[in-house]
Amino acid sequence: MKPTWVALIKQVPREPVFKKTGDAIQIDRAKTEGIMNPYDRRVLEFAVALKQKHGGAVVVMSMGPLQAEEALREALAFGVDRAILLSDKAFAGADTLATAHTLAAGVRKLGSFSLILCGARTLDSDTAQVGPQIAEILDLPMAAHVGKAVRKEATIRVERTLDGIRERLVLPLPALITVAGQMHTARPLSLGSVEGAFGEPEVELWGKRDLDVDPGLIGWEGSATVADDYAVWKHSRSGEILQTKPAEAADRILDILMKHNVLGG
Ligand SMILES: Cc1cc2nc3c(=O)[nH]c(=O)nc-3n(C[C@H](O)[C@H](O)[C@H](O)COP(=O)(O)OP(=O)(O)OC[C@H]3O[C@@H](n4cnc5c(N)ncnc54)[C@H](O)[C@@H]3O)c2cc1C
Repeated sequence: MKPTWVALIKQVPREPVFKKTGDAIQIDRAKTEGIMNPYDRRVLEFAVALKQKHGGAVVVMSMGPLQAEEALREALAFGVDRAILLSDKAFAGADTLATAHTLAAGVRKLGSFSLILCGARTLDSDTAQVGPQIAEILDLPMAAHVGKAVRKEATIRVERTLDGIRERLVLPLPALITVAGQMHTARPLSLGSVEGAFGEPEVELWGKRDLDVDPGLIGWEGSATVADDYAVWKHSRSGEILQTKPAEAADRILDILMKHNVLGG
């Protein structure tokens, strides 16, 4: 049977707009402009590379408001075969666990699949929980921060580097991996591929009624956690231009690094 590579991608806010619902603080996704999570571009590249090497088809899926369709269209420009948006009021207000239950139900509906690929993290909530939670829900073997993957018969052989140690793991398929951010460089898209993404295939829209999932496990109701406060982090930077001889500048830089304890003991 031809492999199905399932890439999960998330649209993240460029500048989040918050709203208060009862006692809880939520991101107002309808008022917030979205971009594809940059780490998920690597997921798409990774999935398309697996398809080119081993055949089969890439299905991309996202859970989010209707505007997340933009990220899925961008995914089609990467050479993905099918794009599915899980969107329903019933999915709103989800924490990572409820998000994972919804995505797991979406993947289950696909029927058979070989490998689910997630990003290692996101630019906004950045919990790195969703991939491992989906693996747990679907009872799949899982490896995080994968840099290389090769399918061999009914297994996927993966390589990852953690804390300077390179590990090679063999997972029976179907399985789930999260793709390491630093090891796979997403290529820029050509104008032709972007144009193609606005034709066929259409982004499919699946709601709660399309999924076989307990309503108590999804959305607000299925969320085990509630965010009750938030603070917007303000960054400020001050620069210093060293207009001096290179050797003096090097000494000055060393002084600054020592002062801030950047070089360690
Ligand atoms: C306590 C808490 C309360 C929250 N409440 C709300 C809320 O009320 N309303 C709200 O809108 N958000 C809420 N969120 C945010 C929401 O839970 C996250 O946006 C979502 O679960 C993904 O988490 P993450 O960004 O940390 O993903 P990570 O686990 O860091 O993502 C890793 C990878 O998982 C995949 N992935 C993650 N999310 C999706 C997705 N939606 N679709 C497809 N693939 C995905 C991607 O491949 C991604 O690269 C809340 C989060 C927390 C922790």
